[in-house]
Amino acid sequence: MSLAATSLSSLRRQLTAGEITARDIVEDVISQITTRDGDIGAFLSHNPEAALAAADQADLSLPLGGLPIGIKDNINVLGDPCTCGSKFLKDAYTAPYDATAISKLRAAGAIPFGRTNLDEFAMGSSTENSGLQITHNPAAPGHIPGGSSGGSAAAVAGNLIPATLGSDTGGSIRQPASHCGVVGLKPSYGRISRYGLVAFGSSLDQIGPLTHTVEDSALLLNSIAGMDPRDSTSLNEPVPDYTEGLDAGVAGMKLGLPKEYFTDGICPKVRERVETAAKKLEAQGAEIVEISLPHTEYAVATYYIIAPAEASSNLSRFDGVRYGNRTENPADMLALYTDSREAGFGPEVKRRIILGTYVLSSGYHDAYYLRAQKVRTLIRRDFQEAFEKVDAILTPVAPETAPKMGSAVGDPLKQFLADIFTISANLVGNCGISVPLEPIDGLPVGLQILGPNLGEREILRCARAVEAG
Ligand code: GLN
Repeated sequence: MSLAATSLSSLRRQLTAGEITARDIVEDVISQITTRDGDIGAFLSHNPEAALAAADQADLSLPLGGLPIGIKDNINVLGDPCTCGSKFLKDAYTAPYDATAISKLRAAGAIPFGRTNLDEFAMGSSTENSGLQITHNPAAPGHIPGGSSGGSAAAVAGNLIPATLGSDTGGSIRQPASHCGVVGLKPSYGRISRYGLVAFGSSLDQIGPLTHTVEDSALLLNSIAGMDPRDSTSLNEPVPDYTEGLDAGVAGMKLGLPKEYFTDGICPKVRERVETAAKKLEAQGAEIVEISLPHTEYAVATYYIIAPAEASSNLSRFDGVRYGNRTENPADMLALYTDSREAGFGPEVKRRIILGTYVLSSGYHDAYYLRAQKVRTLIRRDFQEAFEKVDAILTPVAPETAPKMGSAVGDPLKQFLADIFTISANLVGNCGISVPLEPIDGLPVGLQILGPNLGEREILRCARAVEAG
């Protein structure tokens, strides 16, 4: 197995035993990308010299010493481009600072390496909305890798790099992880600072790891979690060692299957895989109970009001003046804004901005935005009540395995509806993980395990039990 295909925990053991060097790992990552990423398209850019120099300086006594981590291209890494998959920022923006998640990675000894592709500004579920390049699913040729962190998932699944960071506003870590067959964790809202993550939906966004194994997910979370004075939404709660107790098993855990998640819209084979996983956990001593999340049917509509509303506000900074590309010779000031935005943004981003501006406009604000916030409270209560009865909730990640490339282009509603199982965790703020199950007809599929706010230890433990079979 190549070093790039090896788990972080195993690389760590080999590094500390002196069997390999950090340079060996980085050299392998560079060579894998050079020889194979032409066919995958996971990386938008990378800087081999900087990574090799960092590898030579790596402090192996640190928890992630010498380990390269791929970074979704909407997280600022000092001196690197940060395009957000958009023509607006391509060749027009270099990050002037490190996001807090990146400075924490560096403090733990890791080497932020390369920029992974995404749906433009993280809007989408297939990475086909990237304004810059196509990303293929290495585990399912001809199929999308999922999104929006499709590059991050494909980089790990394609064994180009041992682990990556993504961002999840409505499922963008968990869904591509499921479609590509890797582990993807969306931590609780506030667990990880978003300082330096280009904002999409500020009340929903979280950064999180995509990895080969559950243990690697815990390892990365250990290093990037924690309070940050630069992000007032980050939680001032202690960060436990998430690798501790990972193998404690699920005996005595109470796990819920929400009846609203197992309806006709879900592919029977996906349903069967999730139910089989639940049975296996039951055989390992967990108690499986049916629960109800009665407002599930409103989650998609609620999310697709709140997320675009926040996006329309967040993306107003891309005006051709302060960031990114500026139109040449505009007729006047207004044309400078409108022409720059017209040329810079792709169709999905424009759709979100128009939707978001509409639901916030006077006369419609109360009917849409305010009502969506009220329904969000109802969804939050559903989960609060559920977590009084169970320790974690088992669900599919998506209703189907990865669709064929191009099959959903031009049908945004179909894509929106497929987010049904992942978006509630963002609306509510709780944590969720996707862990691979047995593939369906050769296509990867994940189990989603949802936990309460700051329930990362429980869902990691449960995911580890699934992984161990
Ligand atoms: N698919 C969802 C959307 O398009 C979620 C995206 C995300 O989590 N960044 O908004």
